[in-house]
Formats: sequence, structure tokens, C-alpha cells
Amino acid sequence: MIDLRSDTVTRPTPGMRQAIAEAEVGDDVYGEDPTVNALEAEVAALFGHEAALFTPTGSMANQIALQLVTPRGTELLCDADAHVVTYETGAAAALGGISTRTWPAVGATIDAEQVAAMVRPDGYHAVPTTAIAVEQTHNRGGGGVIPLATLRELRRIADDAGLRLHCDGARIWHAHVADGVALAEYGALFDTLSVCLSKGLGAPVGSLVISTSERIAAGRVIRKRLGGGMRQAGVLAAAGRYALKHHLGRLADDHARAARLAEALAPFGVVAGAVRTNIVPLDLTKAPYDAPTIAAAARKEGVLVSVLGPRTARLVTHLDLDDAALDRATEVLTRVLS
Ligand SMILES: *Cc1c(COP(=O)(O)O)cnc(C)c1O
Repeated sequence: MIDLRSDTVTRPTPGMRQAIAEAEVGDDVYGEDPTVNALEAEVAALFGHEAALFTPTGSMANQIALQLVTPRGTELLCDADAHVVTYETGAAAALGGISTRTWPAVGATIDAEQVAAMVRPDGYHAVPTTAIAVEQTHNRGGGGVIPLATLRELRRIADDAGLRLHCDGARIWHAHVADGVALAEYGALFDTLSVCLSKGLGAPVGSLVISTSERIAAGRVIRKRLGGGMRQAGVLAAAGRYALKHHLGRLADDHARAARLAEALAPFGVVAGAVRTNIVPLDLTKAPYDAPTIAAAARKEGVLVSVLGPRTARLVTHLDLDDAALDRATEVLTRVLS
């Protein structure tokens, strides 16, 4: 099977498995796992922040960060397609007591002035806005990259209104590679970030929250409360450290393959927007069949496609997809769409 559903489907490489096997470990709830501590220090430094916190999932990392920047009973602004309000099972409300208000789903094309106009000040009637969250790259927005200029504008808006700014950076690595913006430059713009090691970077598990030492200390308590205090987690952190060292630069290959796939499918008029990173979003409104039918036909020929809606689907390139697999997938998808 050639799996194009997501970049989460990758398996640890032999080198990564060796790093896991050789990891020095300790009890991380006591703060004594040297490999977790090293990973947290390395990732904090990459983004120019004081501290970081290792979590089992990106959803937990996001929710810890949101609880840190959005006090209970206050409001977070984000876009209607954001992972934090779409794919985290209502956690902001259910666990964080956070009210969310969204701007229309426009992926990475954010109108900063529209966001500024949504901000509500502290008061007796209205829910006070305390934070804004953005997603870099944007998952449901087809892997789009928010331009640095837009992020700077949002930072200014947040500063003017006394708000915190969070980045769901599950795939911020891809933005860094696509736009050539330094990770520290992104880091400087946000109060908190979450980053994911198990998407494009190919680790089996793991995300981090990045912020000040003070916030990360508070985040450690929230992580424990959520059941995320892990013991000899160094075996997982070792995979993450290996991934950062060996799999960051190669994301450019995934981007090139996604661009090739988009080009091959362009004649069918199904590629939704410009492909900037490793996601090829498909709009099948003009296709002869709906998304589940096309996915079922591709599956029969050994290619897995992600169905996002009746007429929307998604193809994602990743570490476990080489040129030969891409060619084979392109051939199958071309046939299915014809
Ligand atoms: C995958 C993803 C996450 C985290 O997902 P988990 O499955 O909880 O690790 C967060 N944000 C975005 C944009 C994602 O794509």
C-alpha cells in the first residue's frame, strides 16, 4: 500500500530505532530523564525561547498552551478550520473552560485587520478576548504557509490589545523549509508554540510546548493533570532528537514530490489552490465521482487517500514515500480520476 492519507503514517527508520535502543533514560516525572531534558533544551533553543515541555501528542501540547494563555472564561480567537477547534474533541471548552470565536476558514490567507476587529476588551457583558491562535502550516488549508508579514501584523495587533499569541506549529518545520524563515524568527513572534515530531519529521510519538520558563513550569502541572506525565520517556525523546537531526532538511523532498503530484493532477481540475508544502488538497466538485468513491477505487489499486468531506480529499507526502512510490501513486490516481 502507498499511504498518502497523512504524514503521521511513517515508521521509525533503522537509524531512529537504533537511537531509541541506545537512549539514556530516567524518570521524567522527577525531571530526571536526560534525553527528554536534552530534547526540551534543544527545541527551546531552536525557537529562541527559554523552555519547552515534551508531550505525547500535539493535541495535548496545544491544549496545555491554550490553558497557559487563555484563562478560564475568556476567549480565544482562531480560524474556523483550525485544528484546535476542529480535531481536538472540544478540549478547549471541555478541559480549559475556554470560549472560542472563529474567523472564516481561509487557511493561511489571514486578514489581520479582520482579526483585530474581532477583539473584545475586558468588560462585564462580553467575553474578554485574551489570546489569538494561528496554525503554521495550515492543515485543512492545504499546507498553506502564513507569510511572515502577516504574523508580524498579528503580533502588533496582539501587543496593542494586550493579547497572547499562540502558534499551532505541528508543521512549522515545513513553513521554515518552504519560506526559509528561521525557526527563531517564528519563535520570537509567539508567546507559546506547539511543534510536532511525529508528522513530517517521522518520529513515532511526540510534541512540545515552547514558551518562557515560568509558563513551562505551569504547563508541567497541566500536563500531569491531563495524564501526560511520562516516566522513561527518553526512548521517545531519542526518536525526536534523531528526527530533528536527520529529517528536517529532507522536507524539501516532500515538498517537491507534492508539487510534482499536483502538477500531474492539474489537468483534472481537482487541485485546490497552490501547493506550497507537503499537502495536496483536492476539491472534487467537478470530478466524475465523489471523494469516498475515488478513495475506494484508489485503495483497490494500492493507494490510500484521505477523505475530508463528500467532495474533498487530501494527499500528503512524507518520509516513507520515495520517487518510485510517487510515480506509482500518480499513475493510479490519474487512472482513477479519468
Ligand atoms: C496533527 C496536528 C496536531 C496534533 O495532532 P495529534 O494527533 O494530537 O498529535 C495539531 N495541529 C495540527 C495542525 C495538526 O496537523
